Amino acid sequence: MSEISQRLLDWYDVHGRTLPWRVRGRRRPDPYRVWLSEIMLQQTTVAAVVPYFEKFVAAWPTVAALARTELDAVLTAWAGLGYYSRARNLHACARLVVERHDGAFPRDVAALRALPGIGPYTAAAIAAIAFDARAAPVDGNVERVMARLHAVTIPLPKAKKRLTALAEACLPEARFGDHAQAMMDLGATVCTPRQPKCPVCPFADLCRARSAHSRISVAPGLAVWPRNCRRKRRRNPGPHGAAPRSGWKGPAAPSCFAAGRSGDCWAG
Ligand code: SF4
Repeated sequence: MSEISQRLLDWYDVHGRTLPWRVRGRRRPDPYRVWLSEIMLQQTTVAAVVPYFEKFVAAWPTVAALARTELDAVLTAWAGLGYYSRARNLHACARLVVERHDGAFPRDVAALRALPGIGPYTAAAIAAIAFDARAAPVDGNVERVMARLHAVTIPLPKAKKRLTALAEACLPEARFGDHAQAMMDLGATVCTPRQPKCPVCPFADLCRARSAHSRISVAPGLAVWPRNCRRKRRRNPGPHGAAPRSGWKGPAAPSCFAAGRSGDCWAG
């Protein structure tokens, strides 16, 4: 196991968030609850999702129960959570899982992606968390951690491929679900967009961006990572925390960093 994944899993065992769709230890979570939480978390914070999640599993404890209900009841229960296409896709997906998969969510990323409302991130998250499949869900939080850890200077969205490859490269040999959730938690609670809590980060002494900023003490600090070329700010927070899914939209890295490039440390 790599140094990064070992440290991350050790950190998660102590500091991982307790959430109603999670289980700890050797038990596996209910794929229905994982899927439901991941759909609700798209563009929405954990704090906003928790009461809706509790309401949904109380009303419809299984995917079959959700499939049997009428769409109007689902839309009514969803009221206030926003992005109503998610509720319509949720209902359509529940019916397809029952009709085509006999009520059991498929285990692999490709089959999950064929279902309504499930894109690449959500498919990887469900596969990893629900089935412990070797998959690396990469959202804005993970992009930010990877960009900082490896001091990737390529701006987003061009850096996406590189950041995804880096996230996949630090996958462990087991505990893929815990690793995915640990990465989400670290990005949401420690390696936050504006004021990362580096002293308590398990990567503090490995992080190239942190090392660079401590050598070259200039404003605006670590918030410049990852760089971003997109023009518009997203107004809604990303999944699993307060961070925007597509990462920090702030100013470009200071020019002194470009001057300080040397070797693969700055290769991005
Ligand atoms: S040391 Fe700081 S910047 Fe680097 S990964 Fe950890 S929290 Fe993020």
